[in-house]
Amino acid sequence: MNRDSLRQLEHHDAFLERHIGPNDAEIAHMLRVVGHDSLDALTDAIVPASIKSAAPLALPAPVTEVEAIAKIRDIAGKNQVFRSFIGQGYYGTHTPNVILRNILENPAWYTAYTPYQAEISQGRMEALINFQTLCADLTGMEIANASLLDEGTAAAEAMTLAKRSAKSRSNTFLVAGDTHPQTIEVLRTRAEPLGIALDIVRSTDAFHAALAKGDYFGVLVQYPASSGWIEDWSRDAEVIHSHNALFVVATDLLALTLLKPPGEMGADIVVGNTQRFGVPFGFGGPHAAFMACKDAFKRSMPGRLIGVSIDAEGKPAYRLTLQTREQHIRREKATSNICTAQVLLAVMASMYAVYHGPEGLARIARRVTRLTAILAAGLRELGHSVVHATAFDTLCIDAGQAGERILARARAHRANLRVRGDGSLCISLDETTTREDVALLWRIFAPSDEAALPSVDALDATAPELIPDSLRRTSKYLQHPVFNTHHSEHELLRYMRSLADKDLAMDRTMIPLGSCTMKLNATAEMIPVTWPEFANIHPLAPPEQAAGYRELIESLEAMLVECTGYDAVSLQPNSGAQGEYAGLLAIRAYHRSRGEAHRDICLIPDSAHGTNPASAQMCGMTVVVTKTDANGNVDVEDIRRNAEKYSDRLAALMVTYPSTHGVFEEDIVEICDIVHAHGGQVYTDGANMNALVGVAKPGKWGSDVSHLNLHKTFCIPHGGGGPGVGPCAVKSHLAPFLPKAFGGEGDVGMVSAATFGSASILPISWMYVVMMGAEGLRRATQVALLNANYIAKRLAPHYKTLYTGRNGLVAHECILDLRPLKDATGVGAEDVAKRLIDFGFHAPTLSFPVSGTLMVEPTESESQHELDRFIDAMIQIRDEIRAIEEGKLDREDNPLKNAPHTATKVSASEWTHAYPRELAAFPLASLRQAKYWPPVARVDNVYGDKNVMCACIPVDAYKEAADA
Ligand SMILES: *Cc1c(COP(=O)(O)O)cnc(C)c1O
Repeated sequence: MNRDSLRQLEHHDAFLERHIGPNDAEIAHMLRVVGHDSLDALTDAIVPASIKSAAPLALPAPVTEVEAIAKIRDIAGKNQVFRSFIGQGYYGTHTPNVILRNILENPAWYTAYTPYQAEISQGRMEALINFQTLCADLTGMEIANASLLDEGTAAAEAMTLAKRSAKSRSNTFLVAGDTHPQTIEVLRTRAEPLGIALDIVRSTDAFHAALAKGDYFGVLVQYPASSGWIEDWSRDAEVIHSHNALFVVATDLLALTLLKPPGEMGADIVVGNTQRFGVPFGFGGPHAAFMACKDAFKRSMPGRLIGVSIDAEGKPAYRLTLQTREQHIRREKATSNICTAQVLLAVMASMYAVYHGPEGLARIARRVTRLTAILAAGLRELGHSVVHATAFDTLCIDAGQAGERILARARAHRANLRVRGDGSLCISLDETTTREDVALLWRIFAPSDEAALPSVDALDATAPELIPDSLRRTSKYLQHPVFNTHHSEHELLRYMRSLADKDLAMDRTMIPLGSCTMKLNATAEMIPVTWPEFANIHPLAPPEQAAGYRELIESLEAMLVECTGYDAVSLQPNSGAQGEYAGLLAIRAYHRSRGEAHRDICLIPDSAHGTNPASAQMCGMTVVVTKTDANGNVDVEDIRRNAEKYSDRLAALMVTYPSTHGVFEEDIVEICDIVHAHGGQVYTDGANMNALVGVAKPGKWGSDVSHLNLHKTFCIPHGGGGPGVGPCAVKSHLAPFLPKAFGGEGDVGMVSAATFGSASILPISWMYVVMMGAEGLRRATQVALLNANYIAKRLAPHYKTLYTGRNGLVAHECILDLRPLKDATGVGAEDVAKRLIDFGFHAPTLSFPVSGTLMVEPTESESQHELDRFIDAMIQIRDEIRAIEEGKLDREDNPLKNAPHTATKVSASEWTHAYPRELAAFPLASLRQAKYWPPVARVDNVYGDKNVMCACIPVDAYKEAADA
């Protein structure tokens, strides 16, 4: 009998066999189709020898899912979860279990892409419009966006929005000193390169004096203040407006269920974080921040905005409105570089509000504020001076000499308090606070262990409210039925399911998006994220309680250093664009450190992603656009010319590699040399690292800095448009200029509100690298190259691939050129994208980086079966276009122009089209077994931008549409 080899058997336990879609036989077949003998031979034919890594990655051998989970369990166990009373913008919350399991742990939600394709994204856009309504209603403002990265960056975006919009010509932004310190840190970072003067005024008197003087274009206050007090800012708003400046309020949505909202005090822009609406601390993120503002500013508001439009059948339908991909249109004139935001967390927060409703939220807030009042009364009984007379959930105590003893007691009871710069202590209560917690706090603050403690019930009868009557909210909010219907678990469960069912995410189909690597987000990678040891650590918890996070972060940094060939990595940026910003700030600070502050020119090829010029602009750089040659390569001669022309002023070149055109440029090493010869630095946009990991390292071929997108190459799911992590990786000479830690030292300030940005999703990338190991990562890259070339090759008889590199091969993505077909038949790339919906596919990237094209990136995770399904759909679509060419289908009334087809339309008694219903709905026989029905027909973009409407649709609108 044949004897099994243990080693062989074990090989099949490897995670890489699950992560990589095609099996060995499929790989062999696809290699034959593209005409190469092995993955190595294919790689050699694609990747220029000048950049290829000689040695394999120095990473540990791959481990199985079981082993990796055990390893990360050990690491998680080194974190200590203390009771948090720290506050400062982050509060304990109960994630409703129904939301935890059915949103946060549900691939139908977390694997979705940004809703650029409106027809297959109606569910998540409804959730986001609920989020916008939530933020606008509670702040008392007219309009709110669909999330920003964190409260600190939201405040910075408000500052620049105010600068753009205020009539005042002042260059100063005035900030009340009792604002969350991390917000002030981010404001400092953002203000300096733009030449904005930040005036941070600590005392109330000095603040009012500065207000009266009027030398500012905008003013920011925190309400409730960082140390807890609340005040009516209406008078101040009038003063601010009398100086033609804008009034910005950073706020707390839970507090606003009880407090007079900023919108009723004259605020122009309101920002904040929705973390405490059911999203755990996560050691700092991810959480959804928001911006709400007056309607007048909607066209210059940063971030994405969901709006209501109509579809081809006249029914209401959601779409991304106004700023959709505005970086790609306005580039260096964009209002901000925000691309990936925090959609998944915004969806969670919105569902928290849907679940609790206005009364439930107010009840949670009333309980928090009642416990705070009782706590304050008890502390006074114990002889403490509570600094402020007003509060919502936060008390500030001037403990004097007793401070150290109190903190030691708190530690002994596994509780964390906040210590402010002036030595005072702050306590913040939240939804999770119990009577026992209040009693514990009294014990911690008692003069001695034997001291008698107050009684919660006795004080409940006597303790006065801390919210003054004049600040009590009288206006209603969240009156829309969606916030008043789904309060039982069954109702919410079914509501969430009904939304998810409207959408296409990766749990149903490949999402072949060029530039936005949509690969497998393995379940094993996701599991640790919701463990309490990762989820429940406050970002400002003492470092010794976060030892596990430390280990995880250091380990991941080291692995990313190895994968990229750089020397140091910062995990602080919470999106790719934030990583770009951090990298360019490092370059800027480096030039300054060498007395070359005048270097301000940033060369950017015209094919670059729109965030590149937008980030450069935020660093105060001047963007010079360079050309692309006929083969889609960056034009080396044009770079040389510009580098020479601006030699004295050259700060950086930003280049994407392999290029956004899907090719490995042969001349990249020479390009780096040219830039260096003129004193510039090379920034390589690392969004395309999925074509490089284990094969070549930017840090070794002459690049100085890159950002990575962990939410592309390293398996963090897209979440429908966030969260993300955009690590900034640099060579050693730039390492001193990475963003500093909160409270730390450094030349470059914080780019995100928390030291480690979106820390709680780092386990996903860690698990990926550990399970794949060097061998798996390299193989993943090779199969990504194979899959892209297989698609290009199989589609070659039907569609032209716009650009190819050496040997006629593409990199990990290919651009299909539909422009010739448009000329011949009137069918454009958008029609093909919409027709793919009838086949159950999410369209490839539409019209980026070249208008009129589709960019396809299949990734290594798609099996040959899935690739063939996609290819079959694309061939059938080509046949339909051919039928138009040949006059067999009408030029106007054809399945492409009318796509996508809804069930309502196909099943209507009347069918007036010039082609059969079968062709509309079931163009391939396989669709009879599994059919996705889009919930709306093609969405009207022009109507939506003309009639901007960004809150929940009045119920009557549906009735009218149904009756029509
Ligand atoms: C995705 C992407 C970015 C921006 O990343 P975000 O995380 O969305 O901010 C930048 N450059 C390229 C080439 C990209 O594909």
